[in-house]
Amino acid sequence: MSAAPPAPTGIVIGVPRETQPGEARVALVPEIAAKFAALGARILVERGAGQSAQFPDAAFKNVEFADAARVWAEADLLLKVQPLTPEEAGRLQAGAVHAGFMQPHNHLAAVRVLRDRNVTSFAMELVPRISRAQSMDALSSQAAIAGYKAVLIAANTLDRFFPMLTTAAGTIRPAQVLVIGVGVAGLQAIATARRLGAIVEAYDVRSATRDQVKSLGAKFIETGVTAEGAGGYARELTAEEKARQQEVLDARIAVADAVITTAGVPGRPAPRIVTRAVVERMKAGAVIVDILAENGGNCELTRAGETVQHGNVRIVGPVNLAAQLAYHASEMYARNLYNLLSPALKQGVLNFDWSDEVFAGTVLTHAGQVKHEPTAKLLASG
Ligand code: NAD
Repeated sequence: MSAAPPAPTGIVIGVPRETQPGEARVALVPEIAAKFAALGARILVERGAGQSAQFPDAAFKNVEFADAARVWAEADLLLKVQPLTPEEAGRLQAGAVHAGFMQPHNHLAAVRVLRDRNVTSFAMELVPRISRAQSMDALSSQAAIAGYKAVLIAANTLDRFFPMLTTAAGTIRPAQVLVIGVGVAGLQAIATARRLGAIVEAYDVRSATRDQVKSLGAKFIETGVTAEGAGGYARELTAEEKARQQEVLDARIAVADAVITTAGVPGRPAPRIVTRAVVERMKAGAVIVDILAENGGNCELTRAGETVQHGNVRIVGPVNLAAQLAYHASEMYARNLYNLLSPALKQGVLNFDWSDEVFAGTVLTHAGQVKHEPTAKLLASG
C-alpha cells in the first residue's frame, strides 16, 4: 500500500473577492496561483473572487475555495487590490502578512488596526522606483492601463475620427490629441493615440520626457519650465513657473480635439492645469479625459465619475480605469505581487530579508510599528 501524500503544511495565501463598488479586479489569477503553489503555499480563494475579471473558479487549479469568513480568518498572507477597511484589517489573524494597495494617508484607521494586530503589511504604492523593482511596480502596471483606456474613452466620446481617412466622400483630417503629463499613463496614452492615427502633442514638466515623447512619434511642447523633483517625480511648480507653463499650454489646449490629462505629483492633489477659461476657448466638440479625476483633477471642471458638459466641451472624469480592463489589470497586478513576495517564500515558509531595500521600502506596518515615516507622522499628529 502506498503512503498517503503528506498534508500540505505551507502558509495559506488568502484571496477575498473585492467588495468596493465598481472594482472588477482580483489580486490573484490562475497562472500566479500555480506559481505560489509551486513554492509550497496553499491557496484559499473566496468563491467567485475572479469572476468579474473573467477568471471563473474553474480556471484555477490546485486552489481551495471557501467563503469570505474562512479566507480572512485563515490567511497567513492575504492578497487584495483595494485598501483594507478597519473592519477588514480586524479580520486578519494577528501576525498575518498583507499586501495590496493601501493608500495609507487615506486609511489611517486601518493602518492603526494593522499595527496593533502585529500585521506585516506591504503597500504596493510604496514599491521603490528602482530598475530591479519594475516588475513589482503595480502603480506602473495599472497606470499604463489607465492611459490606454483614457484614449479609447476620448476616441469614443469625440464626434470625429482619430485617423486621417481618404474616402470617396473626401479626406478626413486626423484628430489633434494633447497629452499632459508623460509618466507611465501619459506614455501609454501617446502610444495608443498614435496607433489610432491621431496627431499627438505632449507636455511634461520633466524635460527627460522630451526624448520619450519624440520616440513615440509625438511632438513635445516646449514651455521653458522644467521641474525635476526627487526620485524621478515632478516637484510642485512656483507661481511664476505655473503662469509661464499655462500661457504656452493654453494655446495648445485651445486647438486640440482631445486632451488627455495624466499629470500627478505624488502625495499631493492633482495640479490644476486646464482652467475653466481655457476650456471656454476650446474647439466645439472637444473632449477632455482627466485620469486624475479621483485626485481632484487636472482640469478645474472635472467631476470624478461624471461627464461634464461645459459649453461645447465634454470633460470626462473616469474613476478606477484599471478596473475597466479587469482581466489584464488583474493579471499584471498578480504578477507584480508575485514578483514582490516570491523571493521571501521558500518551501511554504515566508521569511523577509529586511536588508533588502524593496521589502524595507514597501513595508507599511511590521512588529507593532508603522515603518513608513510619513504615515507614522500622520498617525502621531492625528
Ligand atoms: P505620476 O503619475 O506621479 O505623474 C505623471 C506625470 O505627470 C509625471 O511624468 C510628472 O512629471 C507629470 N507632471 C506632474 N506635474 C505636472 C505639471 N504641472 N505639468 C505637466 N506634467 C506634470 O508619474 P508616474 O507615471 O508614476 O512616473 C513618474 C516617474 O517615475 C517617471 O519618470 C517614470 O519613468 C518613473 N518610474 C520609474 C520606475 C522604476 O524605475 N521602477 C517605475 C515607474 C515609474
